[in-house]
Amino acid sequence: MTELSQNLYAVQAQIAQAAAQAGRVPDSVRLIAVTKTHPEEAVLDAIAAGQRLFGENRVQEAITKYMPLRETCPDLELHLIGPLQTNKAGEAVALFDVIQTLDRPKLAEALAREMKKQNRTPRLYIEVNTGNEPQKAGVAPYEVEDFLLECEGKYGLKITGLMCVPPFNEDPAPHFKLMSGLAHKLHLPHLSMGMSSDYETAIACGATEVRVGTAIFGSREIQPR
Ligand SMILES: *Cc1c(COP(=O)(O)O)cnc(C)c1O
Repeated sequence: MTELSQNLYAVQAQIAQAAAQAGRVPDSVRLIAVTKTHPEEAVLDAIAAGQRLFGENRVQEAITKYMPLRETCPDLELHLIGPLQTNKAGEAVALFDVIQTLDRPKLAEALAREMKKQNRTPRLYIEVNTGNEPQKAGVAPYEVEDFLLECEGKYGLKITGLMCVPPFNEDPAPHFKLMSGLAHKLHLPHLSMGMSSDYETAIACGATEVRVGTAIFGSREIQPR
């Protein structure tokens, strides 16, 4: 067994355990393997170990790495979890199954236009800036409902989930609980939260998707934006 597959199975086991402790079935939490900065070989190893759900945070990197794999592995599911520039909306719509980082009207407009043009319907989540951090992307918690209504009413987009990255070096639990409350209130089935350091806490708070990179693939040498 490769080191990567051992890591992957260990994370899967932890997820199942955290779910059980929260009185949830293991299937209620999906593992997104985050491959940013890691080479295509790492993705192939993960695929060989059975992983099909992946996350990337840059459009260009994802195109290079995943376009070739789309043909050979048609059941891959790819999520965009990093910031999306409006001028990359077309490429993002063409490649991703889920775009988790919708956070502003201009982007909603661009995505709506591209989805219509390409006749593709990636699932869309709103990114929430739970810590109201000025340097961070995402909609402020108190603005999420209005933004969702704008996406649906003005741009005809269907929003099915929320995602967040809580402030670094803060207890993430209150942020995850806030998210869970918002998702419940807005009747959104998908809740993407939790990374290598805090996915068990996120599961206890109701995450339906956790995004794990380092615990599976090891540390990243290059730090992406
Ligand atoms: C990199 C990244 C992750 C994975 O982080 P790890 O700490 O390596 O597990 C999750 N979510 C987002 C948005 C990321 O950019």
